[in-house]
Amino acid sequence: MNNQQLQDRKTKVIARGQGNMYPVYVERAENSEVWDVEGKRYIDFGTGIAVCNTGHSHPKVVAAVKAQIDKFSHTCVMVNPYEVAVELAEKLTAIAPGESEKKAIFVSTGAEAVENCVKIARAHTGRRGVIAFNGGFHGRTNLTMALTGKILPYKNLFGPFPGDIFHAPFPIDCHDVSVKASLKALENLFKVDIAATDVAAIIVEPVQGEGGFYAAPPEFLQALRNICDQHGIVLIADEIQTGFGRTGKMFSFEHAGVEADLMTMAKGIAGGFPIAAVVGKSEVMDAPLPGGLGGTYGGSPVACAAALAVLDVIEEENLVSRSVEVGTLFNQRLTYLQAKFPNLIGEVRNQGSMIAIELIKEGDFEQPNPELTQAIIAKAAENGLILLACGFYGNVIRFLPALTISDELANEGLDKFAELFTSV
Ligand code: PLP
Repeated sequence: MNNQQLQDRKTKVIARGQGNMYPVYVERAENSEVWDVEGKRYIDFGTGIAVCNTGHSHPKVVAAVKAQIDKFSHTCVMVNPYEVAVELAEKLTAIAPGESEKKAIFVSTGAEAVENCVKIARAHTGRRGVIAFNGGFHGRTNLTMALTGKILPYKNLFGPFPGDIFHAPFPIDCHDVSVKASLKALENLFKVDIAATDVAAIIVEPVQGEGGFYAAPPEFLQALRNICDQHGIVLIADEIQTGFGRTGKMFSFEHAGVEADLMTMAKGIAGGFPIAAVVGKSEVMDAPLPGGLGGTYGGSPVACAAALAVLDVIEEENLVSRSVEVGTLFNQRLTYLQAKFPNLIGEVRNQGSMIAIELIKEGDFEQPNPELTQAIIAKAAENGLILLACGFYGNVIRFLPALTISDELANEGLDKFAELFTSV
């Protein structure tokens, strides 16, 4: 079967709500390379949306998963627990930023991790309100859609949403929203919409992912920490896209030296095995009663084994510092390209290996170019390069290379990317 035949079969049986951008059906993948069912090779700058930080099918992860399946694949951590879950919780609580004593719970997806943060924060504070930020993304379940700032395509057609969720502006320099203005808006929100004493939690992405790769200035996260301390509000760090070395630190909050009360972990945690976690201060984490958190598959032993192997690989291969090197290489090459094509390429930005460029019209940073973005991504796929889009206007190309990528492959992929601009 070729790509098109598979796409025809897919569109008959998988609803368009779970649609793909272009028909590349994967046969196998190794580190930063992917081969489709027609034998064509691609360099992967998407890593399954920031999941395969240790590359596709890292041999150590594969071996750990096989060894675990040979022993057993499921019993449920809430029925008959097992050591790999305990060991993973020990490791995650140790690497989470900050010195406080911590505990963890396991679920299967990022959205569930966010939902559970809100449940825990409400149980801990006895309050109802949750504040999130414009342009933020927290998932596709009912509560996480409500927290998400962007309407299309995540929220339209799906309401009504749960109440008691409020949005404040996220500070973005190039959109003229300063840290000061954003904090002022938060102060106003406490006066007009909900008293600070009714707010259970503030949730923030340290780098907005789906929103376009905007890093929160460190002083903003520090100010949020102070506001939460002042009013007894739980600070939730949504590190789902930024975790596990992606931004040049194990977690992005480390750039600001801030410890959240609760944090989410998913995506890069287990190299593609569906597991997510909430990690937080023990006194907050223990607020819900026994049986109130988790689910049938949360903390699957196979996914726990994969996650333990991923953590070993990150340490053994120094992937956190490698993330900085890879990010610098991408930034330099993309900045050079920006200088060559200033009419088409706007801002280039990165925190570690979370790298983005904006595509614009006529050299005007105020004119997003989502049409060109779609065309470039489709053309890149034809030329053997996997890319992703993001951003409020859909005009941001994001680069999420495996942290295990070699300079040689990164440069080969960036050469392919640069060639696309000579033909538009
Ligand atoms: N939060 C953030 C910051 C994300 O980037 C994502 C996914 O992109 C989610 C939450 C939702 O995670 P999942 O798709 O695993 O439910």
